[in-house]
Amino acid sequence: MSTPTTRTDATITDITVTPIAVQDPPLLNSVGVHQSYALRAILQVRTDAGLVGLSEAYGDDPTLDRLNRASAALAGLSIWDLNGLNRRVAVALGEVAPDSPTELAGAPSVAKAIASTVSAFEVALYDLQGKATGLRVCDLLGGAVREEVPFSAYLFYKWAGHPGAEPDSFGEALDPDGIVAQARRLVDRYGFGSLKLKGGVFPPEEEIAAIRALRDAFPGHPLRLDPNANWTVETSHRVAEQLSGVLEYLEDPAGGIDGMAQVAARTDLPLATNMCVTTFDDIPPAVAAGAVRIVLSDHHFWGGLRASQKLAGICETFGLGLSMHSNTHLGVSLAAMTHLAAATSNLTYACDTHSVWQVEEVIEPGAIAVRDGAVRVPPGPGLGVTLDEDSLARLHEQYLRCGIRRRDDITPMRAVHPDWTGARPRF
Ligand SMILES: [Mg+2]
Repeated sequence: MSTPTTRTDATITDITVTPIAVQDPPLLNSVGVHQSYALRAILQVRTDAGLVGLSEAYGDDPTLDRLNRASAALAGLSIWDLNGLNRRVAVALGEVAPDSPTELAGAPSVAKAIASTVSAFEVALYDLQGKATGLRVCDLLGGAVREEVPFSAYLFYKWAGHPGAEPDSFGEALDPDGIVAQARRLVDRYGFGSLKLKGGVFPPEEEIAAIRALRDAFPGHPLRLDPNANWTVETSHRVAEQLSGVLEYLEDPAGGIDGMAQVAARTDLPLATNMCVTTFDDIPPAVAAGAVRIVLSDHHFWGGLRASQKLAGICETFGLGLSMHSNTHLGVSLAAMTHLAAATSNLTYACDTHSVWQVEEVIEPGAIAVRDGAVRVPPGPGLGVTLDEDSLARLHEQYLRCGIRRRDDITPMRAVHPDWTGARPRF
């Protein structure tokens, strides 16, 4: 590619991919329970102009392998050549194995494996473009339509602590009272204006009771429930009947486009997904079947910020709502999510974030935080966050020590419940 020479030109010279491990509380879900540490990867993309672009990605072994293979193919790429990035990553990965870093974000696929790799580098290139021009990433994405991005309080059933460890600072939440107390703490501390409960953990009647308790305690807060496809279609019908008019939306009650369509056919309750529509190929059949009314985007696996905006346009065309999904993440990802949401006009639902559950961070403090239920777009150029090199080194040491190399919610649950399989649907 030939590009005009301007003072904002820069090309990639080298890339560092650093796996890190961060402490994670025992959050329960349909598959099992979070391990003691969650894995992430921090990318530092350096250029001949002396700039460093940041990104944050999954940190499991298959992801690291793909990131490192793609890194080797990106030297000399202009920071402006995002289409070139797509081509080079696709060629570098060749016949990549289908994979997904978590079963909670849908089935593994080749498309998703390539898309998540592209995304990791694309975010870093946007950070570089911003640093080269003095512009924020949201400005490069078309301009901020909102300077404050609302996020929802992500509520989890959880144990008091990991088995054999001291109780953590978050406390136990295993029943409606525990969930309401947890919601109260998060709302008091962060000002959240909407609440999402990760369900699929206990029999649906107990989770319905928790939602009703939240409704009583927070009469003005929109509520969501996400059992991660741990219910049969019949169970989903039963729950939808009881929570119609109570929930803002019900997320992935049953598995697959067919299952969701069967549920949708018999309820007015809006159904949302980050499991049955996770690639562009999923959209036509989901729309044809009327399976969902809201899609949860996630730039980490949809292919980056541009791909997420393309998804937003498709949702607009087909009258689908748009929300945002989250996995465990740190501040670099929170910044990317915030810039994207700030620049996406039809992303009108409060976004998900796990950030309130993380006690460790890899960026310097002060740039980004949840206040009054929202995250203000960082004012600095690019993503507007700065890596804390000491924290990066410490969290990498923690990665080397912890021995975890792939997310596995089943094995730690089996340590407590030996017969646990994680198979779904359980209810
Ligand atoms: Mg979900």
